[in-house]
Amino acid sequence: MSDRVSVAIVGAAGRMGNSLLEVAADRDDLRVVAGLVVAGSDDEGRELGPQAIEGTSDYAAAAEAADVFVDFSVPAGCLEAAEAAAIAGTAFVSGTTGLSDEQKAALADLTSDIPTLHASNFSVGVNLLEELVAMTSEATDGAFDIEVFEAHHRNKVDAPSGTALTLGEAAAQARGHELDEVAVWGREGEVGARTDDEIGFQVVRGGDIVGEHTVMFCGAGERIELTHRAQDRNIFAQGALRAAVWVCGREAGEYSMQDVLFG
Ligand code: NAD
Repeated sequence: MSDRVSVAIVGAAGRMGNSLLEVAADRDDLRVVAGLVVAGSDDEGRELGPQAIEGTSDYAAAAEAADVFVDFSVPAGCLEAAEAAAIAGTAFVSGTTGLSDEQKAALADLTSDIPTLHASNFSVGVNLLEELVAMTSEATDGAFDIEVFEAHHRNKVDAPSGTALTLGEAAAQARGHELDEVAVWGREGEVGARTDDEIGFQVVRGGDIVGEHTVMFCGAGERIELTHRAQDRNIFAQGALRAAVWVCGREAGEYSMQDVLFG
């Protein structure tokens, strides 16, 4: 038992928290030592997941007990957890999306002395898709227009998804652009004709869609569509726990899911 990696889950009462607890229960390379929830909420003291882990808001104790934090919560929870992890020297893995530029900078600052991995998507398929998008974008530069489509369940709070932004960044950078300079966030009314470099984003929210992303490369008389469909959120939990085991014991620094999967 002692060579198992000790994991503290941040956002343990959420959809991904639940999935992480379920997936962790079937793995023999790690054990969950804490489930972090919102202070003062009904989740505090509640038994969570098959392990019946008691929900707690004691970040400092969790950071002391754990080798690694795995965070799928909200931006504020991510930063609170990162601060506790940094103080205790605990590794930090996060899949939380919707961080502002300031919050991203604060996260980088907080985690500069610990091994850290933040990914907008932990699935094998999307990380492969990112490579394919970059390759296709470069190869079709000057000839094909790029549009990004994503769809998620009705409770998702940020848009476009972190994954759509990552795919857009890969497409933009492969053509020598920064996404901020070329992104168009939806279209309505008299928007005029499309410009050559723009990358449009379209978003759907509804029902229980786990996650769907398509990057379209639209040329004259033909179109390439690169699509990923997540059917089960356990793929993200599997990837994040794989990353958690991988990152433990590494030197301080920022790692990516590409390092874990293809490094
Ligand atoms: P959710 O709303 O079901 O769960 C979030 C949980 O975090 C809730 O239970 C909430 O009470 C809790 N929380 C809020 N503040 C907290 C705090 N300070 N401390 C501890 N817990 C806190 O959402 P979800 O669907 O589980 O998604 C969570 C995050 O993960 C979102 O940002 C989502 O976009 C992201 N996500 C990332 C991936 C990926 O592969 N990177 C995949 C799926 C979801």
